[in-house]
Amino acid sequence: MTNRRAIFDDEHEQFREQVRRFCEREIAPHYRDWEREGLTPREFWRKAGEAGVLCTTIPTEYGGPGGTFLHACVVTEEMARVGASLGLPVHSDMVSPYLMHYGSEDLKQRLLPKLCAGEVVASIGMTEPGTGSDLKNIRTSAVRDGDHWVISGQKVWITNGFNCGVVVVACKTDPAAGAKGVSLIAVEEGTPGFTKGARPMDKIGLKAQDTAELFFDDVRVPVTNLVGEEGRGFRYLMEQLPQERLVIAVRSCAILETQLENTIGYVRDRKAFGTPLLDFQNTQFKLAEAKAYITALRAFVDACIAEHVAGGISSERASMAKLVATETMGRYLDEFLQLHGGYGYSNEYGIGRAWVDARVTRIAGGTSEVLKNIIARGL
Ligand SMILES: Cc1cc2nc3c(=O)[nH]c(=O)nc-3n(C[C@H](O)[C@H](O)[C@H](O)COP(=O)(O)OP(=O)(O)OC[C@H]3O[C@@H](n4cnc5c(N)ncnc54)[C@H](O)[C@@H]3O)c2cc1C
Repeated sequence: MTNRRAIFDDEHEQFREQVRRFCEREIAPHYRDWEREGLTPREFWRKAGEAGVLCTTIPTEYGGPGGTFLHACVVTEEMARVGASLGLPVHSDMVSPYLMHYGSEDLKQRLLPKLCAGEVVASIGMTEPGTGSDLKNIRTSAVRDGDHWVISGQKVWITNGFNCGVVVVACKTDPAAGAKGVSLIAVEEGTPGFTKGARPMDKIGLKAQDTAELFFDDVRVPVTNLVGEEGRGFRYLMEQLPQERLVIAVRSCAILETQLENTIGYVRDRKAFGTPLLDFQNTQFKLAEAKAYITALRAFVDACIAEHVAGGISSERASMAKLVATETMGRYLDEFLQLHGGYGYSNEYGIGRAWVDARVTRIAGGTSEVLKNIIARGL
């Protein structure tokens, strides 16, 4: 389906074949059940680990496949193509890099092999009931007590939260120091005082993704669970958020390509007034416009991927990529759904689910407004 793109070589394409088979075998047939259950079973995570599709950038010495961000893109794209919205990118492309880049050797040795194998599911806890966009104002606190940190507070909307075996928690270690008072601390499941909401949160979409509230009631964790240095958490978040935003852009672009192709197939087959829908000029104009914008988006997203691989994409460029990709996705998935008529509103065709699931991409990982603020700083 994908034409060979300049950023990928033969090895990536072989990997793509492998991931595609995995998605078709281990995700597609089960996805509707997971949506009904409201979560992705832990057994799936172990299968993903065995198949080498988790934490693709983690080096082999920590149990990872030792790939690059391009391998991560392949996984993201192939999951998007089977219509799956899973929490894998959070686990693989967000949490594991925090541990890899900033974690102590002890933390890396202890956690990364389990994340790579899918034995432990990982989350990142930034958002709180009282604050999301304004991350500096989080209230979850961590107070040093001898060789431990004592954490108190609450997180909300945490992807993989219900299944998570470890969560990297953004805490205030110095409430008076603003952004410089934020630290990241890893908290493992089973630590006394760490509890999860009774069930995954009830969302309008992303039904197979377990999003949860997490509670921290005087949770004592060893000081070695600090990720990186005290007071540098906000900086680490700012360093890693561009990759998260780029991953969302990569996923959005793959969803658009898949749904464009599916919609072209649908309007070719479906007839109204004795003629295929594709013969109406309205249908042609809608799809011609969509194809042009998606083609342009693909060029920009691939350029951003190349920049990131070459040395790290800037916050401004990653914000542009996410903004353009998610807003374009919102606009055209709506058009594609319209072209499906009533069937667009059913769960029989992937377009309905894609449309609902897409809505969150303009909110999570930085709202479109927050992204515009970042871009505006560089004007
Ligand atoms: C399905 C899902 C999964 C998520 N996963 C995670 C996760 O794994 N980990 C995690 O930590 N968080 C997660 N989130 C939380 C997500 O990142 C936040 O919802 C998001 O950052 C927005 O924060 P908020 O909900 O508090 O909205 P608010 O910050 O209250 O924003 C409300 C509105 O105000 C606008 N706004 C805010 N500030 C400004 C401004 N300065 N200028 C103009 N407009 C502004 C926003 O753009 C938005 O439209 C998830 C959310 C969802 C829905």
